[in-house]
Amino acid sequence: MTEESERARRSECESEFESEPTTEIDVPESHPRYQSLLTRHRIEHGVEAGITSKQGLIAQGRGEAFDYLLGEETIPSADAAERAAAAQLLLADHPVLSVNGNVAALVPDELAELADAVDAALEVNLFNRTEARMEAIADHLRAHGAEDVKGLTADARIPGLEHERGKVDADGIYEADVVLVPLEDGDRAEALGEMDKAEIVIDLNPASRSPRVASIPIVDNVIRAVPNITAHARELADADSRTLERIVDEFDADEALEAAEERIRSGEF
Ligand code: ATP
Repeated sequence: MTEESERARRSECESEFESEPTTEIDVPESHPRYQSLLTRHRIEHGVEAGITSKQGLIAQGRGEAFDYLLGEETIPSADAAERAAAAQLLLADHPVLSVNGNVAALVPDELAELADAVDAALEVNLFNRTEARMEAIADHLRAHGAEDVKGLTADARIPGLEHERGKVDADGIYEADVVLVPLEDGDRAEALGEMDKAEIVIDLNPASRSPRVASIPIVDNVIRAVPNITAHARELADADSRTLERIVDEFDADEALEAAEERIRSGEF
C-alpha cells in the first residue's frame, strides 16, 4: 500500500474511530470479561484507523496472557511503583511520556490527563516508524486533548540504535530527564537507560527486558497503570521535593519485579 492510499484509508477509518466512542462495546460493564473485551475492541479499532500496527495485536495477546496470570488487577507492588512513578515525574525538570500505537489506541484520554497532571510532553515513538502512522497518532492524541505532542521532528538520535529506531525529538525524549515508556521494546529501553535518564516502564511481563532495565518498572496493564499514576500525581501535587525524593528512594525495582513474578507463579485460577 502506498503512503497516500494508507493515508486515505486511515482518514476514512479515523472519522469512524472518532465518531464512535471507543468505550462503546455491546457488552454490559458487569460482564466478567468487560475490560478485556473493551481492550481488544480498542486495539482492533486502532489497527483499522492506522494507529496500531499488526505487530501491536501480537503484543496485546502477550500482554493479555500475563494480565490473566496477574489476576487482571493492580497488585500492591504495582501500585507502589505507580506512586514512585508519579513522584519521579513530579520531580522532573523535563518529563516526557512516550506513546506507541498500542498505548495511543488504549489510553489516549488518560495520557493527556497524565501529561497535564505532571506537566509533561507526549512524544510519539514507534518501533516500526512510518510518517503516516506518526501523524495518525499525533492527530489522534490531539483529538483526545493532548496539547504538546512531539515526535514528528525527529532531529536527534538515541545512541546505540540503528537509524530509524533511534529517531527522537531533540527537545523531547532526547533532552528528557525522566521518560515514561509504556510497552517499550527491550533494545530501546536499554539504550534509553544508558542515556542518564530515569526510565519508567509499564509492561505486564516482569521477565521482559524493558522492565528489567527500568529504574521504575510497573508490572500492570497500561489501562489501569496510567490513570493510577495520574491519581497519585494529583494526590502528591502539593508534596515538597524531600517527600517526593523519599518516595522514589524507598522504591525497590528488584523487589517489585520479584513480587510480580511471585504473583504470576503462585496466583490462583
Ligand atoms: P523485550 O524485547 O523487552 O523482551 P518483548 O519481545 O517481550 O520485549 P513484545 O513482544 O514487543 O515484547 O510485546 C510487548 C510487551 O508489551 C509484552 O511484554 C507484553 O506483556 C506487554 N504488553 C502488551 N499489552 C500491554 C498492556 N496493555 N499493558 C502493559 N503491557 C502490555
